[in-house]
Amino acid sequence: MTPLLTDRAQLLARLANIEEFDLAIIGGGATGLGVAVDAAMRGLKVVLVEAHDFAKGTSSRSTKLVHGGVRYLAQGHWPLVWEALRERQRLLKNAPHLVHAMPFVMPAYRRIDQWFYGLGLKLYDLLAGSAGLGPTQFLNRQKTLLTLPGVKVTHLVGGVQYWDGQFDDARLALVLARTAASHGALLLNHMPVVGLSTEHGTGRVLGLNCTDQETDTPYSLKARCVVNATGVWVDQIEAMTQTQVGHVAEDKVLHTVRPSQGVHLVVDASFWPGKSALLVPHTQDGRVLFAVPWQGKVLLGTTDTPRLVVDWEPQALESEIDQILAEAAQYLVKAPQRSDVTSVWAGLRPLAQSDQRPQQQGATQNVSREHTVRVFSNGMVSVSGGKWTTYRAMAADVMQSIRRAQLLSLTSDDITSHQPLWGAQDVSAIDDSDPYRPYGTDAAQIRQLPGAENWLSPQLNEAMVRFAARYEYARTVEDVLARRNRLLFLDAAAALVAAPQVASILASETGVSPQLAEFELLAKGYLL
Ligand code: FAD
Repeated sequence: MTPLLTDRAQLLARLANIEEFDLAIIGGGATGLGVAVDAAMRGLKVVLVEAHDFAKGTSSRSTKLVHGGVRYLAQGHWPLVWEALRERQRLLKNAPHLVHAMPFVMPAYRRIDQWFYGLGLKLYDLLAGSAGLGPTQFLNRQKTLLTLPGVKVTHLVGGVQYWDGQFDDARLALVLARTAASHGALLLNHMPVVGLSTEHGTGRVLGLNCTDQETDTPYSLKARCVVNATGVWVDQIEAMTQTQVGHVAEDKVLHTVRPSQGVHLVVDASFWPGKSALLVPHTQDGRVLFAVPWQGKVLLGTTDTPRLVVDWEPQALESEIDQILAEAAQYLVKAPQRSDVTSVWAGLRPLAQSDQRPQQQGATQNVSREHTVRVFSNGMVSVSGGKWTTYRAMAADVMQSIRRAQLLSLTSDDITSHQPLWGAQDVSAIDDSDPYRPYGTDAAQIRQLPGAENWLSPQLNEAMVRFAARYEYARTVEDVLARRNRLLFLDAAAALVAAPQVASILASETGVSPQLAEFELLAKGYLL
C-alpha cells in the first residue's frame, strides 16, 4: 500500500474543514492510538490530538516486552496474564516487523528457586495454551552458562528458560497512528488540548480546544464523544471539565492515577552478551530486574518508585540508578559502572488508584496493572492503566463502553484482533540488525529516497529522516532521534553527534525549525 503523506498544512486544513467528528481522542500513546485504530476501522469520523509527539509519554519508555507478565502471575493476577498472553500472540501476528519472540532465562543459585520459579513458569505456559511461544525448560548449570555467557557463575546451580515477546514501543505507536490514518482517522501531534468545550447548563462535553504548537494557532473541534487517553495526565483533562480555563482547585481534582516511575539504564552489549534476556524475579527490594538485549545494546531495569509530580521528561533519581547498578552487579560478570551507561531514561506507569483521594505515597510494586474505563455523565470516557501489550484489548473495551452507554451507535463486533498493522510483513528472513527491518513493507520506498547511502548512524540514514518527515509525522529532531529511530534511548552521545545533520535534513523537508537547540538540551538529560 502507498503510504499516506503527513503534510501538516493539509492535516490542519482537514481539521478546520470537518464540522463535527464522531470521536475525538486526547493522547497519542498506546491507549489513545489503539482506540483510534478500532474506531476508524468501524468507519467513524475520528480525530486524535497529541500534546507532544506520538509515544512521547510512557509509551516510548517501556521495557519493550510484549508479555503476559511473570510478575503479575506471581501476584495472582491470572486473568490479566491470560489476556496479555493472547494479546502477545496477536501482536506477533499483526506486527511481525516490530515484535519478535525472545528467550528469557532466570539463573538459579539455589535448587529450591529453580523448582519454585520453574513450576511458576510452567503455569505461565499452561495459561498461554496454544498462544505459547515455546515450552519452559529447566536448564542445568552448563546449559545456563552457554545461554547466559555474561552471568555470574559462583554458586550457580542452573536456570529456567521461558519465552516472551520484544518490540520497539515508539515505532509500534507510530504504526498504530498510520494504521488509523489509513482507515481515515485524522491524527495531529504537537497539538495539546488546553480546554474542553461544554454545553451551558448541562456540562456535557461538546468538543476540544487545542493549540498548534508550531504556530500557536488555536483550534476548536466538535465531537459527539470524547475519549481521554492521556495516561498519567488523565486527571488533568478530567479537571478541565470542571472549569473553562483548565485550572481547578487541588481539592477538586480527582486522583484516579497513581504514577509509578520506572528507570532504565542502557549499556554496551558486551555487558550482557548473547541473545537471551536475564530475568531476576525477586530483587532485594522485591522488584523484577531485567537485562534485555535490544537494538545492539542492553537495557537494565527497572524501578518502581511512586511519584507525585508528572513531568513530560521524568528524571531518574540517583537512588534508582544506584539500585539498578547494584542489582546488576550481583548477576553480571562484567558489572557496569556509571561511566558505562550510554543512555538513561525514566517513564511513569499510569497505575489505577484504588480510591480517589490525593495520591498516596508508598510502594507501587503490587498495585494492579489492570486498566479502568470510566464513562462520565458529561459524556467523556476516560481510560487509564493497563500495559502496552494489552492496548488492543483496552481499546476494544473503550469502544464497548461507548456502545453500552449509547454515546455512539456501535456494534459489539471484534474489529481489530486479526487486523495486520501498517507495514506488516514476514521479516523472519531479514537479519535482526538490518536497519530497514522495522519498516516492513515501507522499506523499498525508503531505499528509493534521496540520501539512502548517507548514514548518520548505523541505523539511520538521510532517506529515513526524509521518510519520517513526509510519512511519519516527524517535525523535530527529537521526534526523529527519540522515536522514529531510537538513538537517543540507546546512546545519547551518539544522538547528539547525529542531531545537526538530522536538523538540516528535517528543515529542508518541513520548512520549520527542527528545534535542534531544544534537542541538545534534552539529550544531555539522557547522559549520566
Ligand atoms: P502515554 O503513553 O503516557 O500516553 C498519553 C499521551 O497523552 C502522552 O503522549 C501525552 O503527551 C498525551 N497528553 C497528555 N496531556 C495531553 C493534552 N493536554 N493534550 C493532548 N495530549 C496529551 N507495558 C508492557 O506491555 N510491556 C513492558 O515491557 C512495559 N514496560 C514498562 C516499563 C516502564 C518503566 C513503564 C513506566 C511502563 C511499562 N509498561 C509496559 C506499561 C506501558 O508502557 C504503559 O501502560 C503504556 O505505555 C501507557 O500508554 P498510555 O497511552 O496510556 O499513556
